[in-house]
Amino acid sequence: MTAVTASANFEQLGLISPLLARLAELQYHSPTPIQTQVIPNVFTGTDLIAGANTGSGKTASFALPMLQHIVEQKHTGKSESSKANKGNYATGLVLVPTRELAKQVADSIKSYAAHLNGAVKTVAVFGGVSANTQMLALRGGTDILVATPGRLLDLIASNAIKLDRVKTLVLDEADRMLSLGFTEELSKLLALLPNKKQTLLFSATFPEQVQSLTKELLHKPVEIQLQSSDASTLVQRVFTVNKGQKTALLAHLIQQHQWRQVLIFVNAKNSCNHLADKLSKRGIAAEVFHGDKGQGARSRVLAQFKSGEIEVLIATDIAARGLDIEKLPVVINFDLPRSPSDYMHRIGRSGRAGEVGLALSLIDHEDYHHFKIIEKKNKIRLEREQVAGFEADEISPDSILAPAKPMAKPEGTGKKKRKKRKKQINADIWLKNT
Ligand code: AMP
Repeated sequence: MTAVTASANFEQLGLISPLLARLAELQYHSPTPIQTQVIPNVFTGTDLIAGANTGSGKTASFALPMLQHIVEQKHTGKSESSKANKGNYATGLVLVPTRELAKQVADSIKSYAAHLNGAVKTVAVFGGVSANTQMLALRGGTDILVATPGRLLDLIASNAIKLDRVKTLVLDEADRMLSLGFTEELSKLLALLPNKKQTLLFSATFPEQVQSLTKELLHKPVEIQLQSSDASTLVQRVFTVNKGQKTALLAHLIQQHQWRQVLIFVNAKNSCNHLADKLSKRGIAAEVFHGDKGQGARSRVLAQFKSGEIEVLIATDIAARGLDIEKLPVVINFDLPRSPSDYMHRIGRSGRAGEVGLALSLIDHEDYHHFKIIEKKNKIRLEREQVAGFEADEISPDSILAPAKPMAKPEGTGKKKRKKRKKQINADIWLKNT
């Protein structure tokens, strides 16, 4: 493992003045811990694997050195797009799991490049919108391409973009990409990339799938894992409550604390609408954000939530990854997420880049066991708290003693087949519900 000494400011990291000027404008006074560690290593050209939570500033950690490298290559006439024989080539490729993240990452890169005099072209491609506009944007190639895997494969099939001259590959939120069932698409894409390139892999968690991808793809990577003391200033709390009183408690908390920007997570599209109705009956206006909404509506709702026009947003896990809402003060798990890693992604929407944030989980008796698993996997332990007037009973008042049904066996015969099928089912359920 290569050690890189920590630097106190962006100048010491070796960034060029147009980037430094932009960072000053954005009021990034000093690099975050991940930036301090990642930026110098990207400059050395080595492969890298970083355990980075959302909100840690990881976008700038790969975007800044990528931008600088492209500008320098253009000055020396080495870049692909400066060659006489221009084609639809991409030089830097950033793969992300969701449409929202693709747009957000591309917007950040464009923002960091604001003083580079248009020297770096960045294009985002993702599903859910017309491919024609994206094809037009890709004419003549692009320096940086931010893409979701499915749409990128479609565009490659129609010859809109070629990957054989990619110099830097970034896999952002690799764990999510794999858990969303992108494994096959990812393999197809990776096969189209040249062997000689720099690969940077970012992941909040390191399940088996990510580890095998790392072994397959990365060459002697530098490993970067933030110390727990680098973690954000996020306060996590858990309130126990009877199931029948959950909505009342939620409304009470929002009203009592006069929260002006709250993101509430539930597990299904229907639950978003139900909860919004129930809150509205209690005088709280809430909007919903889930996969049934068209791309236009999703972007609109998100913009209104970011600007403060919408104060309460109820969302499924499509909002859990990568959405960057500045200074989001409160995130609430009304339903617990199924997977412990999703818990980390959800709560990572708050307390970003050192801001103070609150992540609250409301758990009823049915959730107790699952919350313990979430704590164990994420190596946290939270004190169970009660809110006066909404205390949970010792024993669940809703418990019905029904005999447990035997679980249906999944299709397929071999263990491997069952495992594969299970993964596919999980991905299908996720996409259907969110
Ligand atoms: P990210 O983890 O890349 O999504 O970034 C999370 C948030 O932190 C974004 O709002 C960034 O604009 C902000 N950010 C990134 N780096 C810095 C920094 N060095 N100083 C202050 N804010 C930052």
